[in-house]
Amino acid sequence: MNVVDLIARKRDGGELARAELAELIGGYAGEQVPDYQMAAFLMAGYLNGFTRAEAEAMTEAMVASGATLDLSGLRGPTVDKHSTGGVADGTTLIVAPLAAALGMQVVKLSGRGLGHTGGTLDKLESIPGMRVELGERDMLDQAERIGLVVAAQSAELVPADRAIYALRDVTATVGNPALIAASVMSKKLAGGAGVILLDVKTGPGAFMKDPEAATELARLCTDLGTAAGRNTAALITDMSQPLGDLVGNAVEVREAVEVLRGERQGPLTELSLVLTGHLAAQAGVAGDPAAGREAAAAALADGRGLERLRAMVQAQGGDAKVLDDLSLLPAAPVTVPVVAGRTGWLAGVDTEGVGRLAASLGAGRRRKTDRIDPAVAVELTAKLGDRIEAGAPVGAIMAADQAGAERAAAGLLELLDIGPEPVQPPPLVRGEVHP
Ligand code: URA
Repeated sequence: MNVVDLIARKRDGGELARAELAELIGGYAGEQVPDYQMAAFLMAGYLNGFTRAEAEAMTEAMVASGATLDLSGLRGPTVDKHSTGGVADGTTLIVAPLAAALGMQVVKLSGRGLGHTGGTLDKLESIPGMRVELGERDMLDQAERIGLVVAAQSAELVPADRAIYALRDVTATVGNPALIAASVMSKKLAGGAGVILLDVKTGPGAFMKDPEAATELARLCTDLGTAAGRNTAALITDMSQPLGDLVGNAVEVREAVEVLRGERQGPLTELSLVLTGHLAAQAGVAGDPAAGREAAAAALADGRGLERLRAMVQAQGGDAKVLDDLSLLPAAPVTVPVVAGRTGWLAGVDTEGVGRLAASLGAGRRRKTDRIDPAVAVELTAKLGDRIEAGAPVGAIMAADQAGAERAAAGLLELLDIGPEPVQPPPLVRGEVHP
C-alpha cells in the first residue's frame, strides 16, 4: 500500500476500495501509518466526502481492528445507546442505569470529549478511582454480575476508533457524516448488543446543524446496524441549546446523579426518559415507547436507576460515596455568577460556542496529549423561551482562576440572544428513523 497515493486519490475526490481502507485503517491502528498521514487523509475525506460504500468499509475495518464482545451468555436483552455528540448531554449516565434497572443488559463503549462536545468517559473519570479502560473479560464479568458496563474502546476493542477519534478531535475533522457513522457504529457493533438506539443530535450545538443532514446520518447509522443484523433505530433530537444546565465533566456527573435522585426536571431528564422508553420498546421490555417511558420514570422515582449507577461505579473501582455526597467530586476553586445584561426572552444560544467556552476553560482538549480539568464548567440555567430579567442570574462559570472565570462569564453572555418577543421552546425530539 502506498499511503501517499491513497491520500492523493481522496484529495482529488476519488473513492477508495474496501481493501484499501482496511489496510489504511488497520495500518494506523497498528502504528505503521503515522498521525500526519492519517490526518491528511481525514481532512481530504472531510472536505470531499465519502461514499456509502466507503462508510461501510471504514466501519468494517474499525470493527476488525480489534476483538468484538460476545454477549450471547447474558440473561435478558442486550441494549446500547449512543449520542452523536452534544453539549451538556449527560444522557448516558442516566439512560444506561435506568435501562439496566428495567432488566436490560447494557454494555456500552463510550467516547471521550470530541470537538466542542463532551464525552462520557471523561465525565466518568471525574469520579475518584473510576476505571473506564476495561478488558474484554472484565466487561463481560461485570455485565453478568450487574447488567451494566460503560467503558472505553481499548487496545482490545475497536483500537482504530480510539486512535482516529483522538486524531479527529484535534484536527478539525469531526463533523463528517461517514466518519461519525463509522466511529459510532464500529463501537456499537463491536460492543455486541442486539438492540441499538442512536440519539442523533441536530441544531447549532450538534455536528449536524441541519435536521436533514442529521436524518441522513441517522439513516446511514441505522442501515449499518441493520445490515449487521442488529435491531437499530434512531431519534433525531434537539441540540439548539445545551441539554442540561451544566457543561463540563464532574458537574455533568453531579447533574446526572441529581436527575436520578429525582431532584431535577427539564430537557435532560425528559430526553433520558424518552430514550430509555424507546430502548425498552425495541428490546421488548415494554409494549411501546410511551409505556417504556412510564417504566423508566418509575425506576427513576423509586431510586432503582441510582442504585444501578452505584453498582456500576463500585464495580469499576469508583468511590460510590460521591453519589451520596456530591461535594466529593472535583470542584473548581473559583465560581463567578453570570447575570443577564438586558430584559427579554431567551431566543437563541450559540450552543457550539458554549461547548467551546467550556473546552477553553480546560474541560476539553486542544492536543491529543492534553489532560482535561474535571472541575471546570459552564452553567447555563436559562432555557430557550425563558423570560429573563436584566440583572438576574442566567448561569455561572466554574474556573481555575478569577481572571479566566470573568473572561468566560463575559464570553457566555455574548453567546446568548435575548430578544424582545416571546419565543416557543424547540421540540425535544424532531424525528425518528426506523429501518
Ligand atoms: N460519537 C462518536 O463515538 N464518534 C463520533 O465521531 C461522534 C460522536
